[in-house]
Amino acid sequence: MEFQIGVIKGDGIGPEIVTEAQKVLDAIADKFGHKFNYQEVLMGGCSIDAYGVPLTEETIEVCKKSDAVLMGSIGGNTSTSPWYKLPPEKRPEAGLLGLRKALNLFANLRPAYLYEELKEACPLRDDIIGDGFDMMIMRELTGGLYFGKRETKEVDGLMTAVDTLTYNEEEIRRIAKRGFDIAMKRRKKVTSVDKANVLDSSRLWRKIVEEVAQDYPEVTLEHMLVDNAAMQLVKDPKQFDVILTENMFGDILSDEASMVTGSIGMLSSASLNDTKFGLYEPSGGSAPDIAGQGIANPIATILSAAMMLRYSFDLDKEADAIESAVKSVLKQGCRTIDIMPQDPAKRSAVRQVGTEEMGDLICSNL
Ligand code: NAD
Repeated sequence: MEFQIGVIKGDGIGPEIVTEAQKVLDAIADKFGHKFNYQEVLMGGCSIDAYGVPLTEETIEVCKKSDAVLMGSIGGNTSTSPWYKLPPEKRPEAGLLGLRKALNLFANLRPAYLYEELKEACPLRDDIIGDGFDMMIMRELTGGLYFGKRETKEVDGLMTAVDTLTYNEEEIRRIAKRGFDIAMKRRKKVTSVDKANVLDSSRLWRKIVEEVAQDYPEVTLEHMLVDNAAMQLVKDPKQFDVILTENMFGDILSDEASMVTGSIGMLSSASLNDTKFGLYEPSGGSAPDIAGQGIANPIATILSAAMMLRYSFDLDKEADAIESAVKSVLKQGCRTIDIMPQDPAKRSAVRQVGTEEMGDLICSNL
């Protein structure tokens, strides 16, 4: 099959890690007989340097015409980079927000998977970790409290601030559908997280999620209150498959879930709209402290490319191949600097590799 992929390498380590992900995609194309056509565009700091703005119409158009977009990361050192002397709407991050909006990316997907070989980076006890966990957080990204009306004013002589949390049934239905679709590709369980004992928005959320569940009889649905979900994530993370939740709860829970898996260099992510299109990127930033040194971990970006194959192109076998190759390379004891064991005694059992070598190793293990 043939696919068009928009490529935004971005700033800092972005070009280094995206190059490795493209290398792995090309190896997949060779092995499975596909063709991936890349069109590279600028966004973020590099776009400011070239065009004076973090996001151009051309970049938006190329992304819209692509089947999916693979991105590195954008931004620079926020204390020293001249990009951060610009007004907020002209800074690198404004480009990403603008692109998400232009592409209507309302669903954010973040897997939290604990690799056997990286168990020691997990702050949970061994008996809780067991043989690891593998969950996916599906967070609504464009509604709720962060996008509601807000104001601060004086009421009866007291400064008073108001934020509003609004969801309509369509916004809930479209994210719920994406959540159930993802569950169908996994272990077929959805945990919908809300605060339905208190909030009207959560009661509507629960009602619509139950309606959507009717169309997915193979998927088990359970509801969980957000305070309990925060506890369960550290008490028994193995129970979760897909966690489906609204914007603010997802913001908090996805950070909690990623913390229990260890390194930022391993965490992939996807932002989806209501078509097959998606923007795939590592969860971490542009890491200006290590940019250009050839030591960044490309695995999060490579796993993001695997998500692209699975969720935008329906190439599940190919995505499985990448994920297994990553596991094999870790099993062989190869580590980038960020996932080297802290314990000096355990360091001798592994070998430190750079960005490029990690990409090559994953290709040769496909
Ligand atoms: P960061 O994620 O870039 O870095 C935090 C720490 O993690 C650093 O020590 C870095 O070296 C390390 N790290 C991150 N990714 C790594 C990788 N792949 N391999 C090895 N180590 C890795 O966060 P920050 O320093 O707070 O932000 C730097 C810049 O990135 C800022 O401009 C910020 O706005 C931007 N940012 C961009 C995105 C994005 O593009 N979506 C996300 C977060 C931050």
